[in-house]
Amino acid sequence: MTAQPVNKKKYDRIEAGLNELRSMGLERTLRKFPGVGGKFHDEAGKTLNFSSNDYLGFSRNDKIIAAAGAALKSCGASAASSRLVSGTLPCHAELERRLAAFKGYPAALVFGSGYMANLGIIPALAGRDAVVIADRLAHASLIDGAILSRAALKRFQHNDPAHLAKLLDGEKSAAQCLVVTESVFSMDGDLAPLKEIAAVCARYGALLLVDEAHATGVFGPNGAGRVRELQLENQVDISMGTLSKALGAYGGFSACAAPLRDWLVNRARSFIYSTALPPAIARAAEEALDILENNPALGGELLKNAEIFRRRLREAGFNTGKSASQIIPLIVGKNAKALALAERLREKRILAAAIRPPTVPEGTARIRLSVTLDHSQADLEQAADKIIDAGYAEGLCGAKLR
Ligand code: PMP
Repeated sequence: MTAQPVNKKKYDRIEAGLNELRSMGLERTLRKFPGVGGKFHDEAGKTLNFSSNDYLGFSRNDKIIAAAGAALKSCGASAASSRLVSGTLPCHAELERRLAAFKGYPAALVFGSGYMANLGIIPALAGRDAVVIADRLAHASLIDGAILSRAALKRFQHNDPAHLAKLLDGEKSAAQCLVVTESVFSMDGDLAPLKEIAAVCARYGALLLVDEAHATGVFGPNGAGRVRELQLENQVDISMGTLSKALGAYGGFSACAAPLRDWLVNRARSFIYSTALPPAIARAAEEALDILENNPALGGELLKNAEIFRRRLREAGFNTGKSASQIIPLIVGKNAKALALAERLREKRILAAAIRPPTVPEGTARIRLSVTLDHSQADLEQAADKIIDAGYAEGLCGAKLR
């Protein structure tokens, strides 16, 4: 049988859309990386990787790999069923027990990914008659969860509890208000004023979900996150997290009260209608929790290294915004500038992604650098020299501190 010719017309709108993205410098394309892990992104070991979320280097940790390998052998590659059918295995129950204890909550529930967690939790907590109020810079998964919930969606100014209070004040007649924010913002590396936000939510009886994707493993006691660090477990209803960044595995989770977990089991559609996490991955995450427990200083060490690196870049004239974490943006403004800087860095064997709208607001295109424990002090010093050289060539910073 001969293949049907592609109906050209059918794709006209898509071609036009792609052309428009190209003309605006906004087209995203997939590049293939060798996946060697660690601090390098190439097999030759010459290009330093600053675009990984493997903050503690756990994805290559021998103990974690061994734990996952053993589970792969004993349980197979797939859980082969959704959790409510026959997919809840001892490794899932154990991981949830450990995550609850780690986060300081009575219960926890694991999802297929962090994205799926937010996509499931928010509609479960907020229906058509509710209002979701999200920080203006909240991650796409939080916004997508809110859209899927069919609740009204409002945005408060970034990290502004007074604006949040004003919005909540206007929603007193709503059946339910759910406030969502991040703990460490993924593209700015700045920290949410969680105490103040929690106090505002308590005043208005609003539910509060905090996405700790980038804080888990890094901030707080044993890397338990900022909610625990600030002792807000009783005020933050859902401490959401991912297993796929500092924990080096894959999957997402919600730590919460037991009735909330029961409700999510019954109502979070991304949990109900999706296959359970592969057992090897669940075991990898559990092993990561063991390592964190036995090495409580890892997160602090990473934050200290990042602070030195950031100070150097800032003093050279880069705009690093309000970063106070392992995530350091170099905010350059125009899309083309961010792409040009990324290219110069690539020539200097530094891999760092140019982040453009809609991931970040219009006019705030940037390079996002993430520091990991795989980077030695010497790596960071050399990288700073190269980044400052590239910034100078692009007219973004002065030469004097090179
Ligand atoms: N929340 C935030 C703040 C994130 O940055 C991400 C990942 N980029 C997610 C949720 C989604 O997590 P996952 O990668 O596990 O799907």
